[in-house]
Amino acid sequence: MIKETFNFKERIAGIRDVLARDHMKVVFFGRTSNGKSSVINALLQDKILPSGLGHTTNCFLQVEGADTPEPYLLTEESSTPQNIQSVAQLAHALNSEKLGDSTLVRIFWPKDKYRLLRDDVVLLDSPGVDVSPNLDDWIDKHCLDADVFVLVANAESTLMLTEKNFFHKVSERLSKPNIFILNNRWDASASEPEFLEKVRKQHLDRTVAFLVEELKVCTKQQAEDRVFFVSAREMVQTRLKIQQGLPPHTGALAEGFQNRCFEFQDFERKFEECLSKSAVKTKFEQHTQQGKSITTALRQIMDTAFENSQLTKKEKLELRKEQKDRLEFTQQQLHLLTDEVKHQIGQLVDKVEQQVAKALNEEIHRLNVLVNEFERPFHPDSLVLSVYKKELHTHVEEGLGSNLRARLSNTVAMNVESSQKEMIARMSSLLPQEHRQQMTNIMPRHNFEVLYRLNCDSLCSDFQEDLEFRFSLGLISLMRRFLGPKHTKRSSELIPRPVGSTPQTPSNEVKHFIQPSADYLAIIQRIALVSPTSQTAVGTLAIGGFLVRTVGWKVIALTVGIYGLLYLYERLTWTNKAKERSFKKQYVNHATRKLKLIVDLTSANCSHQVQQELSSTFARLCQLVDDVVSDMQGEIKRLDTEVENLDECSATARILRNKAGYLLSELETFNQQYLQYDQ
Ligand code: GDP
Repeated sequence: MIKETFNFKERIAGIRDVLARDHMKVVFFGRTSNGKSSVINALLQDKILPSGLGHTTNCFLQVEGADTPEPYLLTEESSTPQNIQSVAQLAHALNSEKLGDSTLVRIFWPKDKYRLLRDDVVLLDSPGVDVSPNLDDWIDKHCLDADVFVLVANAESTLMLTEKNFFHKVSERLSKPNIFILNNRWDASASEPEFLEKVRKQHLDRTVAFLVEELKVCTKQQAEDRVFFVSAREMVQTRLKIQQGLPPHTGALAEGFQNRCFEFQDFERKFEECLSKSAVKTKFEQHTQQGKSITTALRQIMDTAFENSQLTKKEKLELRKEQKDRLEFTQQQLHLLTDEVKHQIGQLVDKVEQQVAKALNEEIHRLNVLVNEFERPFHPDSLVLSVYKKELHTHVEEGLGSNLRARLSNTVAMNVESSQKEMIARMSSLLPQEHRQQMTNIMPRHNFEVLYRLNCDSLCSDFQEDLEFRFSLGLISLMRRFLGPKHTKRSSELIPRPVGSTPQTPSNEVKHFIQPSADYLAIIQRIALVSPTSQTAVGTLAIGGFLVRTVGWKVIALTVGIYGLLYLYERLTWTNKAKERSFKKQYVNHATRKLKLIVDLTSANCSHQVQQELSSTFARLCQLVDDVVSDMQGEIKRLDTEVENLDECSATARILRNKAGYLLSELETFNQQYLQYDQ
């Protein structure tokens, strides 16, 4: 379409050049001495061009109208006008110039002397075709822009091949040139009147056949109107006489002069008509037709461009709407999905937190099993004990960790994985097919595992074992058993501690034992103050005295015996093994207490890990969706620009289409007004 339009541009430029030329051009052509100059002189009704047997024009002579009262000439070599007062002067001027057979000499003749010159008609006399071999150069240089060609033939001979060739070449380059054929020197036929009609018919048939069959420039009827039998010399003479005011028929005139004169006038009339009408038609009709076909094609192109741009715009708008709907849907769904996923993550996190808390509580409950499984050699020595404790911390930490992992890892990992898969599946539905593959790549390659950070080492670092022997029926132990450690502690606090005594010393047991009676406690206190170093003995004495009075000696002795035996038994069985058991028990109690404190923290930490894992997966999925969303937004922007451009295109195409329509109607009006007439 674009190439076609550019071709039109070149063709229009060609038409403009032809139309820009404001004169009509007539080329006279024929062999030397056929009477070309005489014909031009007869037309101009003056002896302007030198003619005669002695003169041979070997350049192009172009007669143009001038607004000056005096004629002048211009040659191609010089831009200075030369005066020409008479034909003799012109002949001299032409002879004195060394002119080539393609050069042009322009003769400017006052317009008021000849009507055709006033109408800007230019007459071009060519050198004899027989004296110039450069026929092609001529045609290219002087004949391609001619409107009418006049072949001046010699009626005394037949049409020569060189004359015919010229017109063949002309009609190759110009479609259907206007050609007139003048059979000049027809006055010569007057001497043989018996052959006149026969010769005339012969010439007519040949020239008509040349125009119609060989050149194919017109119909037979048109051709018969283009062939004339004239005598240019007679016409020049007659007209000069009229110019001089003499009667036209003086002197010896050959037979049939009147007819030849009429025929020349007929030629003049048709020639002028051709110039004023047919030539105009020739000049404008072809171009008008061409203009019409170009305009019609352009209107069609603009129509197609308009329709196509409208159609494309419609498609783009539909595409844009589709994109916009998809974008809004995706954003809306993403919003809903985000809320839903957050909720799901929250639920899963709570569930994991509960599971971890439950499992950890159960493990803490079974802590004694774990501690009892620890089988390092035990020794109460403080250095050995500190290493033992360290290793026990690690054992408990590892044991708890592996137990928790065994109980929870699979469940949690499965929960996390299925939650991730569900997330991906739901997010995938928001994306176009081509992006879905990327979604599956979001899934982490490793299995998710929760880390249980218990850190028993620091958690139980404050554990302080108590491996002192304590008789189970000792006062403190009994008080502890009956009153609980709280009361025991409070009662012990009631008694002021003697300097240097430790809470673990056996003297405390006495103080605790007498706690139930406040008065008695005061008594014991006083006794204890009297002998601070022997509190157990004093306690025993005090209790003994009290019992003697109430139950009697024998019972006391038996009781004391049994008590002593029991003490002895327990004292003897307080071995390393017993110490280890006690140590482990104390450790279990301590660790249980401490671990219980961190149950919430640990479960929260684990659930946080789950939340992190799921949130990061979701964030990556959201990022993918965001990328797609921004792609969609970019696409919408691009479509907006395209629609704008298409709007401009269709507006311009519509304007141009209307302009083409207007031009077409103008050309049609022009055609109707100026080109529709009979030949
Ligand atoms: P050109 O060379 O074709 O321009 O021919 P010219 O116009 O110079 O004419 C050559 C010679 O032929 C001149 O002597 C003319 O007088 C003569 N001549 C021209 N026309 C006629 C004509 O119609 N009849 C006769 N008998 N001689 C003519």
